[in-house]
Amino acid sequence: MSAAVNPAADPPVNLLGLDAEGLARTCEGWGEKPFRARQLMRWVHQRGEADFAAMSDLAKDFRARLVSNARVVPPAVVGDHTSADGTRKWLLDVGAGNAVEAVYIPEAQRGTLCVSTQAGCAVNCLFCSTGKQGFSRNLDAAEIVGQLWWANRALGASPAGDRLISNVVFMGMGEPLQNYSATLTALRVLLDDNAYGLSRRRVTVSTSGVVPMMDRLGEDCPVALAVSLHAPNDALRDQLVPLNRKYPLAELMAACTRYLRHAPRDFITFEYVMLDGVNDSDAHARELLALVREIPCKFNLIPFNPFPNAGLRRSPDARVRRFGQVLLDAGIVTTVRRTRGDDIDAACGQLAGEVRDRTRLAQRTARTIAITEVR
Ligand code: SAH
Ligand code: SF4
Repeated sequence: MSAAVNPAADPPVNLLGLDAEGLARTCEGWGEKPFRARQLMRWVHQRGEADFAAMSDLAKDFRARLVSNARVVPPAVVGDHTSADGTRKWLLDVGAGNAVEAVYIPEAQRGTLCVSTQAGCAVNCLFCSTGKQGFSRNLDAAEIVGQLWWANRALGASPAGDRLISNVVFMGMGEPLQNYSATLTALRVLLDDNAYGLSRRRVTVSTSGVVPMMDRLGEDCPVALAVSLHAPNDALRDQLVPLNRKYPLAELMAACTRYLRHAPRDFITFEYVMLDGVNDSDAHARELLALVREIPCKFNLIPFNPFPNAGLRRSPDARVRRFGQVLLDAGIVTTVRRTRGDDIDAACGQLAGEVRDRTRLAQRTARTIAITEVR
């Protein structure tokens, strides 16, 4: 191999994917002092600046270095829809025909951004359209942080740091704890005072129950944890969340207890998709009470969001209320997730699924045309 004859320069590093330590190391490699890294971090994340020339208080030679060695690039936005209720959803191209989504949900007291961590998902839950797409690839930290960076800009965050996004939830496409390293780097950026400065409790990671990685997250960065439970016993959960066969409920509950040791005054949020006639009876609710007895927790009941060929139905509203009442009567704080952005399909994976299909359709059409032309 003659690769060493004319070695190509390193490709520019995308600063969106570096936490404080990574940025300090990179700057050090360029011969810059650590405080330069902090200054740079503030420019990129707090002011949302992508143009190094505009970073007026950085030394000129540092700026020149950045121009040739670095970049600030979020995933390309290929769709932007706003719902009648104010929910806004961006579709982001992550290459090779894959798209992921980020959703902004405005509420009276807060603004929540829901981010994706993978294109597709390998867990393949029965009721999830992302799972039905299969797994394509992990997003890198820049692609995860890029969703927040982009949303702040698109929502018009002021340079003074006034932000509409007060909370971030890792509940978009993908299983964050099956993309641990990128997720952890992204969390560190979200919590960093020189970047987004979000408090631990305003950032929620949602998991289908990757037990060993729940332990690592507890040690590395104990943000708020949501666990997608969806069933009160192993027989049913094995069907709904196939990962349960690897990490059954007893192990999952023990992992929840261990997690809270790292976050003592916290609680686990259990998510529970309400599926008509599948997991929504009073008996299921009572079985849940026994299961979670020892764990400080809240429940969030999610009316199932149907998608084509799901073969499942949303539980009727009255059933959801009754189920919730059983939990409430036992003293467990229980909320029912309002369906937001229904008119723009702002539920887990749906719009991105459409785009993939359209891309495939485009590919098929292109192939047909190519064949026609050859003939
Ligand atoms: N993979 C992680 C996070 C992404 S999914 C997890 O499973 O927790 C975020 C939430 O949306 C999970 O609670 C998931 O169970 C739920 N969800 C997935 N598909 C859904 C659907 N069709 N209707 C309602 N909720 C759904
Ligand atoms: Fe993956 Fe979560 Fe969907 Fe299950 S619900 S397939 S873990 S994204």
